[in-house]
Amino acid sequence: MKRFELERAIRENELVLHYQPMVEVPSRRLTGVEALVRWRHPERGLVSPLEFIPEAEATGLIRRLTFWVLREALLQANVWRRDGSALTVAVNLSVDNLHDPHFRRYTELTLKVAGGPEQLIMEVSSRALARDPDPPIPILELMRAKGIRVTLDDASDEDAHVLERFPVDIVKVSRGLVSRMGRDHRALDYVRAVVSAARGRGIEATAVGVEDEATWAMLAEIGFSSAQGFLIAEPMPAQQLSEWRAARV
Ligand code: C2E
Ligand code: MG
Repeated sequence: MKRFELERAIRENELVLHYQPMVEVPSRRLTGVEALVRWRHPERGLVSPLEFIPEAEATGLIRRLTFWVLREALLQANVWRRDGSALTVAVNLSVDNLHDPHFRRYTELTLKVAGGPEQLIMEVSSRALARDPDPPIPILELMRAKGIRVTLDDASDEDAHVLERFPVDIVKVSRGLVSRMGRDHRALDYVRAVVSAARGRGIEATAVGVEDEATWAMLAEIGFSSAQGFLIAEPMPAQQLSEWRAARV
Protein backbone atom coordinates (compact mmCIF):
# COMPACT_ATOMS: atom_id res chain seq x y z
CA MET A 1 0.00 0.00 0.00
CA LYS A 2 1.65 3.20 -1.17
CA ARG A 3 1.47 6.45 0.75
CA PHE A 4 0.25 8.41 -2.27
CA GLU A 5 -2.58 5.92 -2.79
CA LEU A 6 -3.79 6.37 0.77
CA GLU A 7 -3.44 10.12 0.45
CA ARG A 8 -5.62 9.99 -2.64
CA ALA A 9 -8.14 7.82 -0.82
CA ILE A 10 -8.59 10.47 1.87
CA ARG A 11 -8.62 13.35 -0.60
CA GLU A 12 -11.01 11.75 -3.07
CA ASN A 13 -13.42 10.42 -0.53
CA GLU A 14 -12.66 6.75 -1.06
CA LEU A 15 -12.93 6.04 2.65
CA VAL A 16 -16.26 4.95 4.07
CA LEU A 17 -17.51 4.27 7.55
CA HIS A 18 -19.42 1.18 8.48
CA TYR A 19 -21.28 1.13 11.78
CA GLN A 20 -21.57 -1.87 14.05
CA PRO A 21 -24.47 -1.89 16.53
CA MET A 22 -23.70 -1.98 20.24
CA VAL A 23 -26.50 -3.27 22.43
CA GLU A 24 -27.32 -3.29 26.10
CA VAL A 25 -27.01 -6.54 28.08
CA PRO A 26 -29.38 -8.31 28.65
CA SER A 27 -32.15 -6.35 26.87
CA ARG A 28 -30.46 -6.17 23.43
CA ARG A 29 -31.64 -2.58 23.17
CA LEU A 30 -29.54 -0.65 20.64
CA THR A 31 -27.60 2.12 22.38
CA GLY A 32 -24.92 3.09 19.91
CA VAL A 33 -22.55 2.07 17.15
CA GLU A 34 -18.84 1.73 16.56
CA ALA A 35 -17.60 3.53 13.43
CA LEU A 36 -15.17 1.31 11.49
CA VAL A 37 -13.34 2.69 8.49
CA ARG A 38 -13.00 0.88 5.16
CA TRP A 39 -11.33 1.87 1.91
CA ARG A 40 -13.44 1.58 -1.20
CA HIS A 41 -10.53 0.94 -3.51
CA PRO A 42 -11.23 1.44 -7.23
CA GLU A 43 -9.58 -1.88 -8.15
CA ARG A 44 -9.39 -3.89 -4.97
CA GLY A 45 -12.91 -3.34 -3.66
CA LEU A 46 -13.53 -2.84 0.05
CA VAL A 47 -10.19 -2.91 1.90
CA SER A 48 -9.99 -3.75 5.63
CA PRO A 49 -8.57 -1.16 8.06
CA LEU A 50 -6.09 -3.79 9.23
CA GLU A 51 -4.42 -3.38 5.84
CA PHE A 52 -4.01 0.39 5.85
CA ILE A 53 -4.15 1.76 9.43
CA PRO A 54 -0.56 0.60 10.17
CA GLU A 55 0.58 2.36 6.97
CA ALA A 56 -1.36 5.49 7.93
CA GLU A 57 0.37 5.46 11.33
CA ALA A 58 3.81 4.91 9.85
CA THR A 59 3.44 7.77 7.34
CA GLY A 60 1.70 10.32 9.54
CA LEU A 61 -1.44 10.15 7.40
CA ILE A 62 -3.28 8.94 10.49
CA ARG A 63 -3.86 12.59 11.40
CA ARG A 64 -5.94 13.27 8.31
CA LEU A 65 -7.56 9.89 8.42
CA THR A 66 -8.72 10.29 12.02
CA PHE A 67 -9.90 13.86 11.40
CA TRP A 68 -11.97 12.59 8.48
CA VAL A 69 -13.42 9.75 10.58
CA LEU A 70 -14.28 12.06 13.49
CA ARG A 71 -16.06 14.54 11.28
CA GLU A 72 -17.92 11.92 9.27
CA ALA A 73 -19.01 10.02 12.40
CA LEU A 74 -20.22 13.17 14.17
CA LEU A 75 -22.14 14.35 11.11
CA GLN A 76 -23.82 10.95 10.91
CA ALA A 77 -24.63 11.07 14.64
CA ASN A 78 -26.30 14.40 13.93
CA VAL A 79 -28.45 12.90 11.21
CA TRP A 80 -29.64 10.18 13.59
CA ARG A 81 -30.32 12.73 16.32
CA ARG A 82 -32.33 14.91 13.93
CA ASP A 83 -34.34 11.84 12.93
CA GLY A 84 -35.24 11.45 16.58
CA SER A 85 -33.18 8.29 17.06
CA ALA A 86 -29.98 9.38 18.78
CA LEU A 87 -27.13 6.90 19.00
CA THR A 88 -23.69 7.18 20.53
CA VAL A 89 -20.86 6.81 18.01
CA ALA A 90 -17.55 5.28 19.07
CA VAL A 91 -14.52 6.28 17.00
CA ASN A 92 -11.16 4.49 17.05
CA LEU A 93 -8.12 6.69 17.62
CA SER A 94 -4.49 5.89 17.18
CA VAL A 95 -2.34 6.76 20.17
CA ASP A 96 -0.38 9.01 17.76
CA ASN A 97 -3.49 11.19 17.47
CA LEU A 98 -3.40 11.83 21.20
CA HIS A 99 0.17 13.12 20.90
CA ASP A 100 -0.73 15.33 17.93
CA PRO A 101 -0.72 19.01 18.95
CA HIS A 102 -3.54 19.69 16.45
CA PHE A 103 -5.81 16.98 17.79
CA ARG A 104 -7.41 18.98 20.57
CA ARG A 105 -8.19 21.96 18.36
CA TYR A 106 -9.53 19.79 15.56
CA THR A 107 -11.83 17.96 17.96
CA GLU A 108 -13.07 21.26 19.37
CA LEU A 109 -13.70 22.66 15.89
CA THR A 110 -15.50 19.51 14.77
CA LEU A 111 -17.67 19.57 17.86
CA LYS A 112 -18.48 23.20 17.15
CA VAL A 113 -19.71 22.30 13.67
CA ALA A 114 -21.35 18.98 14.45
CA GLY A 115 -22.06 19.27 18.18
CA GLY A 116 -22.81 16.38 20.48
CA PRO A 117 -19.82 15.52 22.73
CA GLU A 118 -22.23 13.41 24.77
CA GLN A 119 -22.79 11.24 21.72
CA LEU A 120 -19.10 10.73 21.04
CA ILE A 121 -16.92 7.96 22.43
CA MET A 122 -13.19 7.77 21.72
CA GLU A 123 -11.62 4.31 21.70
CA VAL A 124 -7.90 3.89 22.31
CA SER A 125 -6.03 0.62 22.12
CA SER A 126 -5.09 -0.66 25.53
CA ARG A 127 -1.85 -2.16 24.29
CA ALA A 128 -0.73 1.02 22.54
CA LEU A 129 -1.33 3.02 25.72
CA ALA A 130 0.47 0.47 27.88
CA ARG A 131 3.49 0.55 25.54
CA ASP A 132 3.65 4.34 25.40
CA PRO A 133 6.67 5.70 27.32
CA ASP A 134 4.86 9.02 27.77
CA PRO A 135 1.16 8.13 27.97
CA PRO A 136 -1.11 10.98 26.87
CA ILE A 137 -3.16 11.11 30.08
CA PRO A 138 -3.84 14.89 30.12
CA ILE A 139 -5.53 14.81 26.71
CA LEU A 140 -7.71 11.89 27.79
CA GLU A 141 -8.74 13.90 30.84
CA LEU A 142 -9.43 16.93 28.69
CA MET A 143 -11.68 14.95 26.35
CA ARG A 144 -13.60 13.57 29.32
CA ALA A 145 -13.96 17.07 30.75
CA LYS A 146 -15.71 18.02 27.50
CA GLY A 147 -18.24 15.24 28.00
CA ILE A 148 -16.68 12.77 25.55
CA ARG A 149 -16.41 9.25 26.91
CA VAL A 150 -13.18 7.29 26.57
CA THR A 151 -12.90 3.54 25.96
CA LEU A 152 -9.91 1.35 26.65
CA ASP A 153 -10.16 -0.81 23.54
CA ASP A 154 -9.15 -4.39 22.97
CA ALA A 155 -8.21 -5.19 26.57
CA SER A 156 -6.45 -8.55 26.67
CA ASP A 157 -4.61 -10.61 29.22
CA GLU A 158 -1.35 -8.72 28.97
CA ASP A 159 -2.59 -5.41 30.25
CA ALA A 160 -4.86 -5.76 33.29
CA HIS A 161 -2.85 -3.05 35.08
CA VAL A 162 -3.67 -0.52 32.35
CA LEU A 163 -7.10 -0.12 33.84
CA GLU A 164 -5.64 1.38 36.98
CA ARG A 165 -3.47 3.87 35.18
CA PHE A 166 -5.76 5.48 32.64
CA PRO A 167 -8.80 7.69 33.07
CA VAL A 168 -11.47 5.81 31.09
CA ASP A 169 -15.22 5.29 31.20
CA ILE A 170 -15.55 2.01 29.34
CA VAL A 171 -13.38 -1.04 28.82
CA LYS A 172 -13.84 -3.28 25.80
CA VAL A 173 -12.79 -6.86 26.27
CA SER A 174 -11.13 -8.20 23.12
CA ARG A 175 -12.78 -10.54 20.66
CA GLY A 176 -9.98 -13.06 21.24
CA LEU A 177 -10.92 -13.44 24.91
CA VAL A 178 -14.68 -13.20 24.46
CA SER A 179 -14.73 -15.88 21.78
CA ARG A 180 -12.63 -18.25 23.93
CA MET A 181 -14.26 -17.77 27.32
CA GLY A 182 -16.97 -20.41 26.75
CA ARG A 183 -14.44 -23.23 26.41
CA ASP A 184 -11.26 -21.92 28.03
CA HIS A 185 -11.22 -21.46 31.81
CA ARG A 186 -8.18 -19.24 31.80
CA ALA A 187 -9.79 -16.87 29.33
CA LEU A 188 -12.96 -16.84 31.42
CA ASP A 189 -11.03 -16.14 34.63
CA TYR A 190 -9.25 -13.28 32.99
CA VAL A 191 -12.47 -11.80 31.59
CA ARG A 192 -14.07 -12.02 35.03
CA ALA A 193 -11.06 -10.29 36.62
CA VAL A 194 -11.08 -7.41 34.11
CA VAL A 195 -14.83 -6.89 34.31
CA SER A 196 -14.92 -6.92 38.09
CA ALA A 197 -11.88 -4.59 38.34
CA ALA A 198 -13.62 -2.25 35.89
CA ARG A 199 -16.92 -2.30 37.73
CA GLY A 200 -15.14 -1.66 41.02
CA ARG A 201 -13.92 1.59 39.49
CA GLY A 202 -17.29 2.54 38.02
CA ILE A 203 -16.10 1.61 34.51
CA GLU A 204 -18.56 -0.13 32.18
CA ALA A 205 -17.53 -3.30 30.38
CA THR A 206 -18.39 -4.14 26.77
CA ALA A 207 -17.85 -7.54 25.16
CA VAL A 208 -16.60 -7.47 21.55
CA GLY A 209 -17.03 -10.32 19.08
CA VAL A 210 -20.07 -12.10 20.51
CA GLU A 211 -20.89 -14.61 17.80
CA ASP A 212 -23.26 -17.12 19.41
CA GLU A 213 -26.07 -17.45 21.91
CA ALA A 214 -23.94 -19.55 24.27
CA THR A 215 -21.51 -16.64 24.68
CA TRP A 216 -24.34 -14.13 24.93
CA ALA A 217 -25.89 -16.17 27.78
CA MET A 218 -22.72 -15.69 29.88
CA LEU A 219 -22.48 -11.89 29.56
CA ALA A 220 -24.94 -10.64 32.18
CA GLU A 221 -23.65 -12.92 34.91
CA ILE A 222 -20.04 -11.85 34.25
CA GLY A 223 -21.10 -8.23 34.60
CA PHE A 224 -20.99 -6.89 31.04
CA SER A 225 -23.35 -3.98 30.45
CA SER A 226 -23.13 -4.00 26.66
CA ALA A 227 -21.93 -6.06 23.71
CA GLN A 228 -21.31 -6.10 19.99
CA GLY A 229 -20.71 -8.98 17.63
CA PHE A 230 -21.93 -10.83 14.59
CA LEU A 231 -24.68 -12.45 16.71
CA ILE A 232 -26.33 -9.02 16.85
CA ALA A 233 -25.04 -7.52 13.58
CA GLU A 234 -21.98 -7.01 11.43
CA PRO A 235 -20.70 -3.51 10.66
CA MET A 236 -22.77 -1.92 7.87
CA PRO A 237 -23.19 1.36 5.98
CA ALA A 238 -25.40 4.01 7.63
CA GLN A 239 -28.28 3.51 5.23
CA GLN A 240 -28.37 -0.21 5.89
CA LEU A 241 -28.26 0.44 9.63
CA SER A 242 -31.46 2.46 9.36
CA GLU A 243 -33.14 -0.45 7.58
CA TRP A 244 -31.79 -2.89 10.16
CA ARG A 245 -33.23 -0.76 12.97
CA ALA A 246 -36.57 -0.46 11.26
CA ALA A 247 -36.79 -4.22 10.71
CA ARG A 248 -36.02 -4.94 14.37
CA VAL A 249 -38.99 -3.19 15.94
P1 C2E B 1 -11.61 -2.87 16.91
O1 C2E B 1 -11.68 -1.43 17.29
O2 C2E B 1 -11.34 -3.86 17.98
O3 C2E B 1 -13.00 -3.20 16.18
C1 C2E B 1 -13.69 -4.41 16.27
C2 C2E B 1 -13.36 -5.31 15.10
O4 C2E B 1 -13.91 -6.59 15.33
C3 C2E B 1 -13.98 -4.82 13.78
O5 C2E B 1 -13.10 -5.23 12.73
C4 C2E B 1 -15.27 -5.64 13.72
O6 C2E B 1 -15.75 -5.81 12.41
C5 C2E B 1 -14.79 -6.94 14.30
N1 C2E B 1 -15.88 -7.72 14.89
C6 C2E B 1 -16.88 -7.27 15.70
N2 C2E B 1 -17.67 -8.28 16.09
C7 C2E B 1 -17.18 -9.41 15.51
C8 C2E B 1 -17.57 -10.79 15.55
O7 C2E B 1 -18.54 -11.18 16.18
N3 C2E B 1 -16.79 -11.66 14.83
C9 C2E B 1 -15.70 -11.26 14.12
N4 C2E B 1 -15.00 -12.18 13.46
N5 C2E B 1 -15.30 -9.96 14.08
C10 C2E B 1 -16.03 -9.05 14.77
P2 C2E B 1 -12.61 -4.23 11.57
O8 C2E B 1 -13.74 -3.36 11.16
O9 C2E B 1 -11.92 -5.06 10.54
O10 C2E B 1 -11.56 -3.31 12.29
C11 C2E B 1 -10.35 -3.84 12.74
C12 C2E B 1 -9.59 -2.85 13.56
O11 C2E B 1 -9.15 -1.75 12.75
C13 C2E B 1 -10.42 -2.22 14.68
O12 C2E B 1 -10.50 -3.10 15.75
C14 C2E B 1 -9.60 -0.97 14.95
O13 C2E B 1 -8.53 -1.26 15.80
C15 C2E B 1 -9.06 -0.61 13.56
N6 C2E B 1 -9.88 0.48 13.03
C16 C2E B 1 -11.08 0.43 12.38
N7 C2E B 1 -11.51 1.66 12.05
C17 C2E B 1 -10.55 2.54 12.49
C18 C2E B 1 -10.41 3.96 12.46
O14 C2E B 1 -11.28 4.71 12.00
N8 C2E B 1 -9.26 4.48 13.00
C19 C2E B 1 -8.31 3.69 13.57
N9 C2E B 1 -7.20 4.29 14.10
N10 C2E B 1 -8.41 2.36 13.65
C20 C2E B 1 -9.52 1.78 13.10
MG1 MG C 1 -12.69 -0.27 18.60
